[in-house]
Amino acid sequence: MRIYADHNATSPPLRETVAAIDALLDRRFANPASVHTAGQEARAAIEEARAEVAALVGARPEQLVFTATASEANALALYGFCPERDAVLVVSGIEHPSIAENAKRLAALGASVRVVPAARDGLVDLAALDAALPGAQLCAVMAANNETGAMQPLPEVIALCAKHGVLLHTDAVQAAGKGGFTLPPGVASASLSAHKLGAHPGSAALVVSAQAPRPLWAGGGQERGLRGGTPNTRGIVGFGLVAAAWREHGERFRAAMRAARDSFEQSLGGFQHMVLAANVPRLPNTSSVLVPGVRGEALLSALDLAGVAVSHGSACASGSLDPSPVLLGMGLSEAEARTALRISFGPYATADEGRIVAEKLIAAATRLRHR
Ligand code: PLP
Repeated sequence: MRIYADHNATSPPLRETVAAIDALLDRRFANPASVHTAGQEARAAIEEARAEVAALVGARPEQLVFTATASEANALALYGFCPERDAVLVVSGIEHPSIAENAKRLAALGASVRVVPAARDGLVDLAALDAALPGAQLCAVMAANNETGAMQPLPEVIALCAKHGVLLHTDAVQAAGKGGFTLPPGVASASLSAHKLGAHPGSAALVVSAQAPRPLWAGGGQERGLRGGTPNTRGIVGFGLVAAAWREHGERFRAAMRAARDSFEQSLGGFQHMVLAANVPRLPNTSSVLVPGVRGEALLSALDLAGVAVSHGSACASGSLDPSPVLLGMGLSEAEARTALRISFGPYATADEGRIVAEKLIAAATRLRHR
């Protein structure tokens, strides 16, 4: 039996939507900007999807800008809200590379970038954030972390941004659906990604509140001029369908993930106390565990051979031998970060699967330690 426990990287197709996506896709092929009937049908499909995705996060359809990826949505927020060369940007130290690396690029272009650390429990340091915000244009703090699952204290972050008059962008890619994320008042923009919810990669969105960011490029007037280019109708239709499924079944999905994750952690024996962010609000599906004395990539490969797919750090960082910047951003040492393994369950996971993953992890770690 193979177990896929890497849903924070990409979630496999959501069973509830597969047939509907296939049925719709053959017919919605036209360019939605075309005025003929086929074009109008494609346009209508996109608008239906827009309403569904907006509803999932409690936003209005007109707030959504469809993009190809959440990496693009994050870049749109960063460059779009900080167009001046001497902008001041505040980012948490545990952001996804699509925020962290673009912040570095903005710094190279002349911006002043302040990085706010997180504590070892995985939560951004609010006192440091308060100190970093004065004079900034934009602050980026994610809603839930992709590696530890730690759900950041958004109400407090929003209050601090309001106090200092700073726009807040939140990366809600992992929090949407799995964390039941809804757009809180006071957030300027939030990014979402379809493939973390069980649709195909290639469709994502930036949810924009009041002020629109400057578009990344000029072009056709699609997406209210905020994202020129023919939209990915098929991807967007899939995004709408998975959003509707998460709205309908989200509680059941989250309960299943939680059951698998809790059973995994309870079956970890001596490693149980090595789970990161264990005592803070966390996504119900994510567990990041340090396995002292064993390198994460070796354990990942051993588990893969044993039929279990997990990740070492985030998917974007895998392949790199550098320790996870997120874990370093929480104050872990390089040596500790190298031993981390991320397990992320999906909506059809079971408690049995959680237990089996833990048993295989313990067996593989024991073998590797004695080699
Ligand atoms: N933000 C977070 C927190 C993520 O986990 C990911 C994907 O791993 C992204 C952004 C990027 O999403 P996409 O793959 O749609 O670019």
